[in-house]
Amino acid sequence: MIEVRGLTKLYGDFRALDDVSFDVGDGQILALLGPNGAGKTTTMKILTGFLSPNYGTARVAGFDVVQKSAEVRRRIGYLPERTPLYDDMQVNEFLGFAAKLRGLRRSVRPGRLSWVSEVCGLGSFWKKPIAHLSRGQRQRVGFAQAILHDPEVLILDEPTAGLDPNQIVEVRRLIRSFTERKTVVLSTHILQEVEALCRHVVVIHRGRVVADGDIDTLRKKHGYVSHVTAEGDRLEAERGLQDLDGMSFFLEASTGTHHRFRVRADNGSDCGERVAVALRGLGLEVSEVTTTTASLEDAFRSLTHGSVEEVAHA
Ligand code: ATP
Repeated sequence: MIEVRGLTKLYGDFRALDDVSFDVGDGQILALLGPNGAGKTTTMKILTGFLSPNYGTARVAGFDVVQKSAEVRRRIGYLPERTPLYDDMQVNEFLGFAAKLRGLRRSVRPGRLSWVSEVCGLGSFWKKPIAHLSRGQRQRVGFAQAILHDPEVLILDEPTAGLDPNQIVEVRRLIRSFTERKTVVLSTHILQEVEALCRHVVVIHRGRVVADGDIDTLRKKHGYVSHVTAEGDRLEAERGLQDLDGMSFFLEASTGTHHRFRVRADNGSDCGERVAVALRGLGLEVSEVTTTTASLEDAFRSLTHGSVEEVAHA
C-alpha cells in the first residue's frame, strides 16, 4: 500500500531525510520511531503531499505522492502533530466544512457526520465551540476529520502526545478499531504504545533508516541487556565502563554512591558478569547483576545511541 524509495529531503544544507526506504503492506500498522528531530514528521508530510522530496519517490496505493497528489490525498487521512482546527467554529460546523472540502456529496454528509460522531465519541461536545475543547477532545475531532472520507490509509503523527491516561486508552481504541480494514502509519515516542498496537516498526535516526522489521525480530537481534548496581564513585565506574571494548552503557539511576547501569554488548551477548568483574577490580562493590532479553526500548536506545544518552544526561 505504501512504497517509499530513497527519499531525501534537504532544508538548505541540512539533510533531514537521507535515502529513506520502506514498505507498508495493505492492512498493516507501521510505527515510525525515532528520537526528536529524526525525520518522522518530514516523512509523513511527504507521504501526505504537504512536502516534496528532493530525491526519491513515495507511492500510496500505487500513486506517486508528487505526480498524483490529488489521488493520494483522496486515499489518505492525516492527523498532524498539532491538530489544525478552527477555534471559532463548533465541532459540527468544522466537520461539516471538512466533509465539503473532502468533496463528500451533500446526500452522504449527514450519514458520515453522525458516523464519525459515534465512532469518535463526539456526542457530548458536538455543538461546542472548538476553542472550549480539552486537548483530548480536540484530538478526537482531529481523528474524526482524518477518517471522515473513509480513507484507505491513515497517517497519525503522535496521536496520543499530551493526552491523559484515559484519553490515551480512548485514542488507542479508536486506532485499533481501524486497523483491521486500514493501513496505518503512526509515529510515537511511547514504546509501550507501539507494542500494544503494531508488529512492524521502522526506526529513523538522523534522517536514516536504522531498523525495519517486526518487533520480535528487532528485540532478538539486540540480544541481552544487563543491569548492574554498584556502590562507589560514579565517575570512576563510568571511566571503567568506557574502557571496556565492545559494549555500551547507560546510567539508569544514581543516588549518592549508589548507581545502576544498563549495559549491552555490541554483539548482543550477556556481558553482565564481565562488567561486574571490571567494576570490582576498580574497588566498587557490585550488589546486583540481572540480565534480560532486550526490550523494544533497549533496541531503540541502542539503535539511536547518542541522542537518548544526550537527552538523559541533559
Ligand atoms: P519530533 O519527534 O521532535 O517530532 P521528527 O522526527 O518528527 O521529530 P522532523 O520534524 O521530521 O523530526 O524534523 C527533522 C529535522 O528537520 C529536524 O532536525 C528539524 O529541525 C528539521 N526541520 C524540520 N522542518 C524544518 C524546516 N521547515 N526548516 C528547517 N529545518 C527543518
